[in-house]
Amino acid sequence: IRHFILTNTAFTRRNQSFGDKPTMTRTVFVNGAYVPENEAKISIFDRGFLMADGVYEVTSVLQGKLIDFEGHAVRLERSLNELDMGMPCTIDELLEIHRELVRVNEIDEGLVYLQITRGSDGDRDFAFPDPETTKPTLVLFTQSKPGMANSAASQKGAKIISIEDIRWGRRDIKTVQLLYPSMGKMMAKKVGCDDAWMVEEGFVTEGTSNNAYIVKGNKIITRGLSNDILHGITRAAVLRMAKEAQMEVEERSFTIEEAKEADEAFTTSASAFVMPVVEINGATMGDGTPGPIAKRLREIYLDESLKKAI
Ligand code: PMP
Repeated sequence: IRHFILTNTAFTRRNQSFGDKPTMTRTVFVNGAYVPENEAKISIFDRGFLMADGVYEVTSVLQGKLIDFEGHAVRLERSLNELDMGMPCTIDELLEIHRELVRVNEIDEGLVYLQITRGSDGDRDFAFPDPETTKPTLVLFTQSKPGMANSAASQKGAKIISIEDIRWGRRDIKTVQLLYPSMGKMMAKKVGCDDAWMVEEGFVTEGTSNNAYIVKGNKIITRGLSNDILHGITRAAVLRMAKEAQMEVEERSFTIEEAKEADEAFTTSASAFVMPVVEINGATMGDGTPGPIAKRLREIYLDESLKKAI
């Protein structure tokens, strides 16, 4: 009991000291209400918490505007559909919530995180609850990331290791089952690298939180779409823009050996845009600095996306 009281006191103090910093208190959205982050509540029986029974989206914000909101909304509807989960509100309402959170939290560069879970019927059960009586849980919050468009990490490029892909077979659904990707990121950090590419039956599937590419000459090579990878919103935009810029695009699988021999490599994601890769399993790519095609694609992507941002 003494231990419990001591640790709990420490916990309260820590929270109070966080609370003292006004920048730490975001306004978040939970099930219909805008509330301070430290007042936001969901049930301990929520299936997102108990079963990872939920999906999410991350939309980036540049100059206070949402990048490719429509792409994320379409993928969200698809993820929900694949899991027989209901949409808690309309896409227009979701857009309004995104914009309001960006406004009240004064986000210039950063992210809006959205999560929908199957909710809670007040107990734990493997069977899905009745959707008529159990409403999905909807949570959104912002993350401020000043300097995101011009990050030091993107100028340096990322060092990658490869790990076996042992995830489930529906990686096209953007679920919150992110334990293995988190472990992959930690395996990379442990050996002084930034991220991991996952490999299945000898071929790269994707990065822990991004799609993977190699470049040979003027050709960009990336794995084709299937249930094996997440259908990246940034991937779709970058491939379209690459074609518009007269680059060649080949959608096919590649191995780590082929990647090490390639001219360049990079990844794409909504939160890191186009990230050059400068090392794969200890082998330096080119001269060890971001390659020209990755740099150009990053510029084009940021320019074009900003023009259409809402
Ligand atoms: N693959 C995985 C496994 C991811 O987690 C992500 C980012 N969530 C991506 C690819 C990139 O997708 P997007 O461009 O839509 O962010």
